[in-house]
Amino acid sequence: MGPAIATLHQKERAALGAIASALSLPSFEPGSVWLAGAGPGDPGLITILGLHAITNADVILYDALANPALLEFGRPGSELVYAGKRRGKPGVIQADISRTLVALARKGKRVLRLKGGDPFVFGRGGEEALALARASIPFRIVPGVTAGIGGLAYAGIPVTHRDTNHVVTFVTGHGADGNLPDVDWHALATGSPTLVFYMALAHADAIARKLVETGRNPDEPAAIVSDATSEKQVVRVTTLAQLGASARDSAAPAILVIGENVRLRDGLDWVGALSGQLLDPDPLKHDRFQRAS
Ligand code: SAH
Repeated sequence: MGPAIATLHQKERAALGAIASALSLPSFEPGSVWLAGAGPGDPGLITILGLHAITNADVILYDALANPALLEFGRPGSELVYAGKRRGKPGVIQADISRTLVALARKGKRVLRLKGGDPFVFGRGGEEALALARASIPFRIVPGVTAGIGGLAYAGIPVTHRDTNHVVTFVTGHGADGNLPDVDWHALATGSPTLVFYMALAHADAIARKLVETGRNPDEPAAIVSDATSEKQVVRVTTLAQLGASARDSAAPAILVIGENVRLRDGLDWVGALSGQLLDPDPLKHDRFQRAS
């Protein structure tokens, strides 16, 4: 158990309580567990319900990817427990986390499991919630902004855009055994114009090769967004053929995206624009096509 943190002033806490009651937010019942998403990094991207959970929890079990600034909102006397993954032993630690959630709830605590992004998107939220269901512990799921959507938005890349894609597919680059996941690469290559990969830096080369082998154009635009939505955010725009090489130069955590919608960044990089970057109002070059036809 970590030390209790309580730096938020009473006035601010009261304001949060007033918001919670104005919105009729549910009360956090003792003996229950809330699985909440903290968003991808920018603390402003947590939901009001997520923040309400932090201010009311007795114990918070948090992930490496949840922004620690959010924990400052914890109630005075609340306990903070780091429950990040240990590399190489995901199974063992995962069972421990589920057991801890159940044990704390049985002691009558208000237990918050705070995860990066959204708890049900590649976050094992389902596994933990099933353990609670098996133990008959009441639980609530508080969705969050997932890195594959919100992170790309901070890179100026919309996950869907009418001119580029009617479909988007979210894929993990990391199977349960640590290898490439067993997915239908041909279906991905030919069926989904936009592919968003989580946990894919290590296998980026292999992923790109599989996609090209099964029908994808190696010149297609791709991007890697590292530390998305945080002050350390770095965006690398590349091509499918160069994705592996770019991944080797990129820091984790990172989202990989492949698709024509990556071109929209030239017009929509609002983070860059805030520091003086010029935006191209016609990033898909419609004007050029119109002149040519
Ligand atoms: N539940 C999380 C995903 C957890 S899996 C969510 O919904 O976002 C962990 C993976 O998420 C990382 O390997 C990376 O691919 C992605 N990720 C999480 N936070 C990120 C961030 N700030 N920037 C880029 N990628 C991130």
